[in-house]
Amino acid sequence: MPQRRFFILHLFFSLSFGILAGRLFWWQWVKADDLAARACRQRLAVLAVLGRPRGEFIDRHGRPITDRMMGTRYGPRPLAVHLIGYVNPGDGRGAAGLEEIYDDLLCRGPGRVMAAVVDARREPLRGLGRRLLRLPLTETAAVRLTIDRQLQEKVEAIADRRLQKGAIVVLAAHTGEILAMTSRPCFDPEHPGDYLNRKDAPFLNRALTAYPPGSLFKLTVLAAALEERPAAFWDLYEDEGTVAVGASLFRCPEGSHGLITLADALAFSCNTTFIHLGLGLGAERLLRMAERLGCGVPATADLAGEDPGDLPAAGNVPPAELANLSIGQGRLRISPLQMARLVAAVANGGYLPTLRTVLGLEDGRGRLKAFPFPPPRRVLREETTRYIRAMMAGVVRYGTGRAAALPCGVAGKTGTAQTGRRDRDGRSLTHAWFAGFAPVKDPHYVAVVFLEDGGAGGTAAAPVFREVMAATVALDPLGTGTATVDGT
Ligand SMILES: [Zn+2]
Repeated sequence: MPQRRFFILHLFFSLSFGILAGRLFWWQWVKADDLAARACRQRLAVLAVLGRPRGEFIDRHGRPITDRMMGTRYGPRPLAVHLIGYVNPGDGRGAAGLEEIYDDLLCRGPGRVMAAVVDARREPLRGLGRRLLRLPLTETAAVRLTIDRQLQEKVEAIADRRLQKGAIVVLAAHTGEILAMTSRPCFDPEHPGDYLNRKDAPFLNRALTAYPPGSLFKLTVLAAALEERPAAFWDLYEDEGTVAVGASLFRCPEGSHGLITLADALAFSCNTTFIHLGLGLGAERLLRMAERLGCGVPATADLAGEDPGDLPAAGNVPPAELANLSIGQGRLRISPLQMARLVAAVANGGYLPTLRTVLGLEDGRGRLKAFPFPPPRRVLREETTRYIRAMMAGVVRYGTGRAAALPCGVAGKTGTAQTGRRDRDGRSLTHAWFAGFAPVKDPHYVAVVFLEDGGAGGTAAAPVFREVMAATVALDPLGTGTATVDGT
């Protein structure tokens, strides 16, 4: 029966074709990726592990400080160069600053591999070329700083105009978070090698380097005296312009102040009054207070290379040296960062904070894992700080710090520290300091301006401080609201 035979034949061919098509589909579509991958694995030779993208630094609000989208890691205008540090151009690992401290965390990102397609004898196959493979994604950590990017930009611009050598620090008075920090001279973090032979030490972070504090140390003398006896605030002092201690004669630069209150003694930085105060306290009590306010110990918990400074041992301080110490001269060195911390304790009612630059780590989804930090510890009575704040306000209102005044109300202290060196024309070189806080009625911000060999505190450092504090209260990076209110 031809019709029946034809049907069987048809069925046979259809089935055969169906099975063939199925096998074809199976290998071509279902298993194709697997096959290809297996073939690739066998035939790829890794040529190099390429610059794995580092994690970024972001500011306290999540804005980029480093950014690979800018083409170079640090961009055309690098920020907080001494704090961030740089990566070694050779191996791409952090070589200085936070880049070095957090190197392991920043490196834990996705890597890329350059590979070549090879044959069974591992000879590269012609025409197939090289391939860039991305390794499986792991979480990239970003380091979230306490720095406010906008404020840091302002402070960098001020430093570019006003600082040859020196440092600027801005702190949150209550938490000790560093909101901006810069040092001059600076270097290019993309090309650190170009700066190795410079004589002006551009790699030195001057904010972490200790210098003689000059009259800024009078704040410590004041704190020791008021903790001992709060009524000392109301005492009157007789200033004859000079005071002899042992074989040394100390003088007030402006001549005799006559009968003077403690507040005016600070406002006009009267040396003889503070020498009387210091001699009355004794070295033991004065140096113990200095230590309590953080002199001689590092101010941060998360920075390497901090200079703890010098504080003489209390044991054997002859009177002339104690007199010298009382006006911030002699064997005494304090860093701008330590000075900022000391002023923060006065500004916030008596708590010495541990300064910090890093809030924590942020994962790829913007979640912050905050680092734990010790809470600020009480070092001064509230009453003591109230007196010192009032006196520091006087320094700016009518004393040596008038050039730092702002409408929101500023309090501070000038410092002019002898270096024992002279310039080419024989004039003695001095460091210029200004440390203070604002707004005076509800202080949230502390700033320190330090100018190495920069002249006098009142004329050189105070105007720079004014610019820095004006930018700070205008930006109000902590969102306090109070900072924009006029000091009426
Ligand atoms: Zn005087």
